Amino acid sequence: MAAGKPERNNGRLCRSFDRVETGPMSSHPLRRTTARDGQTSTDGEPRTAVRLTDVTHEYGSSGRHDRTVTALRDVSIDVRMGEIVGLEGPSGSGKSTILHAVSGLLVPTEGMIELLDTDLTDRSDRERTRLRRRHVGIVFQRFHLLPSLSARANVALPLVQAGVSRSTRRERAESLLEQVGLGDRIGHLPGELSGGERQRVAIARALVTDPDVIVADEPTGELDTATGADVLELLTDVGRERAMVVASHDESTLAVADRVVTLRDGRVVDDGG
Ligand code: ADP
Repeated sequence: MAAGKPERNNGRLCRSFDRVETGPMSSHPLRRTTARDGQTSTDGEPRTAVRLTDVTHEYGSSGRHDRTVTALRDVSIDVRMGEIVGLEGPSGSGKSTILHAVSGLLVPTEGMIELLDTDLTDRSDRERTRLRRRHVGIVFQRFHLLPSLSARANVALPLVQAGVSRSTRRERAESLLEQVGLGDRIGHLPGELSGGERQRVAIARALVTDPDVIVADEPTGELDTATGADVLELLTDVGRERAMVVASHDESTLAVADRVVTLRDGRVVDDGG
């Protein structure tokens, strides 16, 4: 079996997942030299992919009403390239807020969020959006696929925003769908796919821009145990050569992490180190 090809094993999918820039995609316009050529810092340690420094976030603090909710309090977390970091904690402890901040979807009230050494908190909305599109792939619990678009069109969607040509979009989306074991579902609509298949489409979409960081919010939350295990195996393979932050309540999901950060009421109570 050639490297990078999905394998089938007892009907389960994707025992291996090679980096997407291999093969026909190597000349993809989004291919870049930043993280892949600079995965280690000068001291030989893996490069820091994501760094939160003393991050505090209050929702509602800029509104007219005085009802603020402090979602994060002095949170500091480092994630290195190649590392999978889990976020654990009860509902409302701040996991999603961290994922939103790392993705540049939210600017915290205080503190610094660095993505590949760039501080997101002093960038314009437009620049944060550009950095997110270029460097971050997001996987949600509920997949967030567009129901009227085929699997291929859903996967290709981020490339439309990136101005990639139609033929390259199709080629890249098909290649990724093959790599996640859905080569025979390319033209299917999300409603014609199982939950596990939909999540694999969502993972392919998260990877289509070849991001350095994967952010996953309860990625197995909608899946049964066996399907969740397949999706986790795929995500783990994907996360290994990038950096991944995965929030979950689920023990088997957190078990794939190298380190699990525990949150309570917006504070880190255990950094898993
Ligand atoms: P988790 O992902 O661990 O469930 P969240 O980050 O979603 O936690 O929420 C942390 C806290 O912030 C909770 O108290 C939640 O109610 C509050 N919160 C989350 N989003 C908002 C929002 N958009 N507006 C106001 N409060 C919010």
